[in-house]
Amino acid sequence: MALWTAQDAAAATGGQAVGDWQANGLSIDTRSLQKGDLFIALKDQRDGHDFVAQALAKGAAAALVTHRPEGVAEDAPLLIVPDVLQALEALARAARARTSAKIIGVTGSVGKTSTKDMLGAMLSGQGKTHIAAASFNNHWGVPLTLARMPQDADFAVIEIGMNHPGEIAPLARLARPHVAIITIVAPAHLEAFASVAEIAHEKAAIFDGLEPGGTAILRGDLETSAILLDAARAKAAKVLTFGEESGDYTLSDLRIGPEASCARLRAPQGERLFKVGSPGRHFAVNALAVLATGDVLGLDPTIAAHDLGRWQPPAGRGTRERIMVDPIEDRFFDLIDDAFNANPASMAASLAVLAAAEPTHGVGSVGKGRRVAILGDMLELGPQETALHQAIAALPALRYIDVIHCVGPRMKALYASLPQSKRGDWVETATELVPKARRLFDAGDILLVKGSKGIKVSLVVDALRKL
Ligand code: ATP
Repeated sequence: MALWTAQDAAAATGGQAVGDWQANGLSIDTRSLQKGDLFIALKDQRDGHDFVAQALAKGAAAALVTHRPEGVAEDAPLLIVPDVLQALEALARAARARTSAKIIGVTGSVGKTSTKDMLGAMLSGQGKTHIAAASFNNHWGVPLTLARMPQDADFAVIEIGMNHPGEIAPLARLARPHVAIITIVAPAHLEAFASVAEIAHEKAAIFDGLEPGGTAILRGDLETSAILLDAARAKAAKVLTFGEESGDYTLSDLRIGPEASCARLRAPQGERLFKVGSPGRHFAVNALAVLATGDVLGLDPTIAAHDLGRWQPPAGRGTRERIMVDPIEDRFFDLIDDAFNANPASMAASLAVLAAAEPTHGVGSVGKGRRVAILGDMLELGPQETALHQAIAALPALRYIDVIHCVGPRMKALYASLPQSKRGDWVETATELVPKARRLFDAGDILLVKGSKGIKVSLVVDALRKL
């Protein structure tokens, strides 16, 4: 069945269809466009209209545009609308209206993507599950994900993010979730918010979009939980809380291995064991919200926990790998790649993972391996940025970390707060560390690389992999 026919798309958007076409998917980027996609000529950094001819040449079924761009044939298949983003939202609304899928909305300061993907692992074992491959969580990502939803999906998971006040409510109303999850509220994007309490109010706006009879799932053990609970009780028919020690869904007997975390879930329905495919208490806590969703949707608890066990973190979000330096002498080091992004909550979580990791050294290594952290600036923290970088020095995990290298102007505050014995290098940019990559470790060490996307510590990861 086609995802969108010319008639359906015209009816949904009020636009004018040129030609009789059928699209099997939607694309906003000609580099990843598949034959048969409807190309959406969004205006972001570039104007999508400049790429319409290229999209059609690559086999696009049609293009969603405000006008026929120059160089595009008069009879080219199009859908002409007054505003492309509004038309995409209209497609999203229509896709949402025509499906009987159970919709799960996920927001939070961190953990959105991992929770979305854990939900995907659990739900796809039980029915046709629609889920965005990437973090499509903003003003175009949410409508795009919804508009791509097949009519016959059984489940859909929609990630909803924000950088500024007022962003979440309209996206939640577009998604109309049956279950809305807030993973955690923590300092992030503080440039746009005066306090963590304000962030909590913004996150709680996801409940504005809940379907009648819907369920709110939120952390019950945060300083801001009361704010979330008040909002949830006003909007949701059912409210479930989760947390490490307090809430309806809690953790016990957590065991963290090199590649996975296992724990016992305590829930109103009883206890059960579960596993997630990455070391870390934070991932096990996110999984509580996922298993709670399974219970709300009436999934078999044992099968749900089993299917959740298939989840593994996406690249750059805590993946662990072994890098051979000298295979003949069995000299290697272990690398935890968490270079995708950082804020204080995820920094603390990743340092706790490093602190708990046991360096394993090959026969060619000399002595016991060390725990080494390469930490880049955390961005968008506003006036509190210096204090939040300094505060890393006081984390209990730091006691178990041997060397810390710091990257970026903000990390200078941490570097200055570290005891001399733990100080590695401080550099202004990640590029400066690249030629020094070989000096960052000895065989047998375990290295964590973590920092905000804009600080590009992923360059250090790339350099380490090439050694
Ligand atoms: P982004 O908005 O940056 O894409 P996100 O909200 O989608 O982030 P993830 O991609 O799931 O979050 O995780 C980002 C980072 O946060 C990873 O380093 C991950 O290990 C960490 N993380 C995930 N969940 C939690 C949590 N509950 N508490 C602290 N850190 C977490």
